[in-house]
Formats: sequence, structure tokens, C-alpha cells
Amino acid sequence: QVAFSQHEVDTDEGSQGPVKINGNENAFGYSQMAMMAIMQELPDINRYAFEETMELIDAIAMREMVPGDYIMPTAGSGPVLVMAAMAYAAPGKNVVSVEPGYTQLIRTFEKFGGETKLVALNDELEYDLEAVKAAIDENTVMVYLCNPNNPTGTIVDPDELKAFIRDLPDGVVAFVDEAYLELSEGGLEANSMISLVREGEDVILARTFSKVYGMAGLRVGYGVMKPEFKKKLSDFHMGGPNKLGCVAATASLQDPAFFEMSVSSYKSVRKMVTDRLDELGIEYATPHGSFVFMKTGVPIKEFQALMEAENVLVGRPFPPMFDWCRVSIGTEEEMTTFLSVFEEVMKGQGK
Ligand code: PLP
Repeated sequence: QVAFSQHEVDTDEGSQGPVKINGNENAFGYSQMAMMAIMQELPDINRYAFEETMELIDAIAMREMVPGDYIMPTAGSGPVLVMAAMAYAAPGKNVVSVEPGYTQLIRTFEKFGGETKLVALNDELEYDLEAVKAAIDENTVMVYLCNPNNPTGTIVDPDELKAFIRDLPDGVVAFVDEAYLELSEGGLEANSMISLVREGEDVILARTFSKVYGMAGLRVGYGVMKPEFKKKLSDFHMGGPNKLGCVAATASLQDPAFFEMSVSSYKSVRKMVTDRLDELGIEYATPHGSFVFMKTGVPIKEFQALMEAENVLVGRPFPPMFDWCRVSIGTEEEMTTFLSVFEEVMKGQGK
């Protein structure tokens, strides 16, 4: 028998496992409507997902206010990043981005023969758009902008980002990864670059159901871009989301109650964590995603091991900031545990 809570499905209830705040997964569960849609669809998974994919495209197109042929559904948003890298990478061509940042697109770009130019963040651990602009040269074909940035969680001022993208030289595509943007102050409405896609700018935007919608294990995401870009990326398409993912994602978009619960839970627990870090005098980057990047002053591998010994799993190393740690936001209970273990570990290190 499956137990439903009011809005969420808490599959970890009662488990004695570690506190998993290492992978930016959603600790608040996922939509109950999505779960019902999955269960209803189970008898039919002997069939392909043609209709369900079309229904998902329609639902996403309505959400993004773009025509359906702008939408490319994928198995998580990662494949959009990989396809874009494969489509644009070539010997002598480069992609410009930042460090520390999310490296999936960058690494693929390098594997497919291209070069990467990584720019440092500013003192607030935010994108320095002037520096990014300065790194663009005649061989640049793409700029990868992760907003909020993973691992720092900082966002870029939307007007500045729009002006930056409009100003890019011809032939340079802006790839905007908005995996966590629903959790930013102001949300999608204030901060998304979707309006530039609608205006026909050279923008590829990626979004996912893995984060605020809590369906990381199901693998559903999508790209939004004009049809000519979609055609270019499609040459590298390796398969869209599966049937269960399609119906679950479509149902999630029709469940504002879960969405609001997820966003408000993230924001309130995130504030609880940063309030305590303030009290402890720990430096951190202003978080707009589902995680907080903080300075421990302890080498990250060592810090990970100390925390793991206390049953708390924290984020991996993000070069070159080896004495900082990315901690995903879990439930209030999990983060209370994290904070007490964190204090003990820091004391043990003389911090
Ligand atoms: N983009 C960013 C910034 C991420 O942090 C992640 C996952 O952590 C992804 C994309 C890819 O996630 P998914 O493939 O689950 O949509």
C-alpha cells in the first residue's frame, strides 16, 4: 500500500540511512498527482510514449508561452547540455563559462574536440559578465551561463544578463541553464531568460523536473530554443523521456500546490541554514538554488570524510575552491542534524 501525505510523497520516511545533502535532490518529495499519473500509466508501458510526449510538449509550451516546435523534451536536462556541446564543439572552437561552475556541457565540449575558456567569479562568487565578455574571441561559438550558478547558487541581475546576451557577437549562442531558477528570489517571472527565446535571440534554455519538481530519478527535462537550433541539436538526440516520466511531468505542471510547497519549503529551510551560518560567522555565497556554498576552511575531501563519519553526505569538490563545501537543502530535520554535526566538526578542526 502506498501512503500519501498531503502534497508530497516521502519515500525515505523512517529510514536510518545517511542525511543525503550531496546531490541537490529534492527532500520534499514530488507531486502526488504525478505519482497517480505514473500508477495509471503502468499497465501501458508496453507501448511507446508518442502521445504522452506530445501531451508533455503541449503542457511545456503553454508554460513557457512558446510554440510547441520550440520544445525539446529529454531524459533530464543533462542531455540538452550534452547535445548542445556535441552540436557546437569542433577543433579550434571554444565555449566560454565560469569556474567554479557546472561542468557537464564544458566537459562534453572538450571531449568533442573543442576548447573551454573558464573565467573566475567575482568576490561575491557571482558571474562577472565583463570578464566573461572579455574572454569571448573570434573562435567562441557558445557561452554557458548557469543561473543560479552551481555550486555557488548566485544569480545574475536579469537586466544585465539580457543586455549581455543581446550584445553577444553574431554566431555566439547563449546557453542558459535555469535548473534551479524557480528557487531564486523573484523566481522565473523576474529572472528567466525565456523572453529572449520568445524574441528569437540565439538562446538555448534548459530546464529540469529533477529539482523543484523532485523527480530526479525519473529523468525528465527539456530545452527551449528556436526550431533551427532544435534541428541542429536533434542530430545528436539519443531518446526523449520515457512514458512514465512524460505523464508525471505533465501532471506536475498541473499541480501548483506541490510546486508552492516545494518552493516555500526550500526557501524557509535555506533561510534557517543561512541564519545559523550568520550566527556562526561562516562565509557563504547568496543562495538562490537548492543548496548553499559555504567556506569551511577545511580541505573538502577531509571535510566530506569527517561529515560522512557522522552520517552526513555533503557535496563534492568544486575546483578551485577546495576549502568550500556545497550543501544541498534537505528537510528542516535533516538540516538541523547537519548544522549540529557541522558545528562539532568545525570545532574539532579548531574553527
Ligand atoms: N544543470 C545543472 C546546473 C545541474 O545542477 C544539474 C544537475 O544537478 C543538471 C543541469 C542536470 O540535471 P538533470 O539531468 O537531472 O536535469
